[in-house]
Amino acid sequence: MVKTKAKKDIDSYAIKGTSNVVCPGDCVLMRPSDSEKAPYVAKVEKIEADHRNNVKVRVRWYYRPEESIGGRRQFHGPKELFISDHYDVQSAHTIEGKCVVHSFKNYTKLENVELEDYFCRFEYKAATGGFSPDRVAVFCKCEMPYNPDDLIVQCERCKDWFHPYCVDMSIEQAKKLDHFLCLDCSSDDDVKRSSNGCSLSMTFEPKVEAKRRKSNAMEDLSTRACVALFCFALAFFFRELTLMEAMLRPRMLGELLEGWRT
Ligand SMILES: [Zn+2]
Ligand SMILES: [Zn+2]
Repeated sequence: MVKTKAKKDIDSYAIKGTSNVVCPGDCVLMRPSDSEKAPYVAKVEKIEADHRNNVKVRVRWYYRPEESIGGRRQFHGPKELFISDHYDVQSAHTIEGKCVVHSFKNYTKLENVELEDYFCRFEYKAATGGFSPDRVAVFCKCEMPYNPDDLIVQCERCKDWFHPYCVDMSIEQAKKLDHFLCLDCSSDDDVKRSSNGCSLSMTFEPKVEAKRRKSNAMEDLSTRACVALFCFALAFFFRELTLMEAMLRPRMLGELLEGWRT
């Protein structure tokens, strides 16, 4: 059909069957053609209506790690998305709901991760599979970037962070730790017993744990205390992470994705 009349920009669109209103700049979940699939996530750039009041949205797609050329890796969080350079125009009818795509830093500060919470730390070039930034800080023996949903423990001496499973520890054991020395530091320990650095070690509850707590209606005070401690621990971790990013082992992301392809 030939389009004769000009489209007009509109400020908002009410999602059918809900009380939610979408405005340009909002992140939305869009119904995939295959109903078995998870909804697509997009950022709404523009909303326009034609003379028959058909509403269309210009969107910028977020990619899930599994939709990227490099695929999903262990360091990708379950709620991780990449903002892409892929734009589209879609019918507003495909919008199912709204969501929030947090910055990486803000996501790690969330007390509870709700269903509609996501995070984004990389820009993704859909045609080439390239990422920006193309470098990322890594830690642990496995030299992996931080997955905000993984439990990690800090060595109180070298200050590096470790996955329990990389240091032969179960998650349960890691949660009970008061102090932790990595293998390198504990073998040094015999030699340097006199120089006893007495610093506090922190363990981190994974985000998924916090989420489970939230879904439990019988949330009690001790749980709240745990959540508060968890947030404090994360804040502490973030100071460390900033340091790590400045000083520690930055790796090319492409190299990491290549290296783990099996
Ligand atoms: Zn590791
Ligand atoms: Zn150590």
